[in-house]
Amino acid sequence: MSFNIEKVRADFPILQQQIYKHPLIYFDNAASTQKPRQVIEAITWYYEHDNCNIHRGVHYLSVKATEAYEETREKIRAFINAKKSCEIIFTKGATESLNLVASSFGKRYIKPGDEVITSIMEHHSNFVPWQQMCLERGASLRILGINEKGEIDLDELKKLLNKKTRLIALTHISNVLGTINPVKEIVAIAHQHDVPVLLDGAQGVSHLPVDVQDLDCDFYCFSGHKMYAPMGTGVMYGKERYLEELPPYQLGGEMIKEVFTGRSTFNELPFKFEAGTPNVEGVAGLRAAVAYLQDLGMDNISSYEDDLLKYATEKMSAIGGIKFYGTSHHKASVISFLIGGTHPYDAGMIIDKLGIAVRTGHHCAMPLMDFLKIPGTVRASFAFYNTTEEIDQLVSAINKVKEMLL
Ligand code: PMP
Repeated sequence: MSFNIEKVRADFPILQQQIYKHPLIYFDNAASTQKPRQVIEAITWYYEHDNCNIHRGVHYLSVKATEAYEETREKIRAFINAKKSCEIIFTKGATESLNLVASSFGKRYIKPGDEVITSIMEHHSNFVPWQQMCLERGASLRILGINEKGEIDLDELKKLLNKKTRLIALTHISNVLGTINPVKEIVAIAHQHDVPVLLDGAQGVSHLPVDVQDLDCDFYCFSGHKMYAPMGTGVMYGKERYLEELPPYQLGGEMIKEVFTGRSTFNELPFKFEAGTPNVEGVAGLRAAVAYLQDLGMDNISSYEDDLLKYATEKMSAIGGIKFYGTSHHKASVISFLIGGTHPYDAGMIIDKLGIAVRTGHHCAMPLMDFLKIPGTVRASFAFYNTTEEIDQLVSAINKVKEMLL
């Protein structure tokens, strides 16, 4: 192991508590990750030293707060290896980033009869905005299916692509199945047809090193809170040539250049897409979170979480009577499952009483649940602060569910 797990765990105050007299085991990381002390302290530091509205002021605090905010933009640029920092747009999360692209891209490029391709494994945040935009603009949403392992079929994608296709909007990693989609290959196929690709990176950035230039994707959207940063922060990365062409998403202060009574002109990138006072405190925390991840190293995080996933898959398979959803070899640290015929909520309640936080339900992926013909799953999702001992506890909890409900 390339980092000290005890030291890492000590950085997360919330993990030190007991739940129902059991040490908390947090396996709901795909929903939101916990925050290290460094992130919490960065927020306190911001309010004790730097707090001020950014961009507009000439006074000391305003300049200081603005510099810190813009330095974070540069830090994010480097973290995902974007070409320019003006391609990094701060938002309140992946959902807002995805809505931004759907709305602005739709207005600029989508006409009646056009097509947008997405997949059946999408989170609602990368499904409903495209569905609604297509309905409003008379376009069609084409939906890629998955095989029994939870993988997209590239031949099906090639068949769906045609002269009417305007965009592919796909998740990098499924929040339900854990599948890591072959996004680099998909981008290459799409670009042969001059079709841009948006990737929903909400589950991607926290688990894998992401290089948007290497992937060559045209948009990459993610949330801060799933990468150890505060809630209410997020990023929409877009290639400059698209961002220059897209109309603004929200209107108001900061995103304008000049306002007259009869018309307005808009600011340059990235400010054109950042109307109003942003979440400056959250971005201070985001900066600390990225520094934390860089310190540990995304490659180290990825291989540690892979080991956890392999360990959990092996141990849980040995229990017997568990059905797994998402069994691709290209998988990140998510295990969705059902225990015999038990309802996911009943299983989740018992597991919770043993101090283990797992998520139950449709995981904001109702089209996928319909496709799988199930009401939902139990989902355990791992982060770099989890341990194999915690997974052993989950295995005992599942055995308990079997004893009680089967
Ligand atoms: N996409 C995926 C794949 C997700 O897992 C999530 C969050 N569960 C989202 C989008 C939406 O993220 P947020 O709620 O942070 O905007």
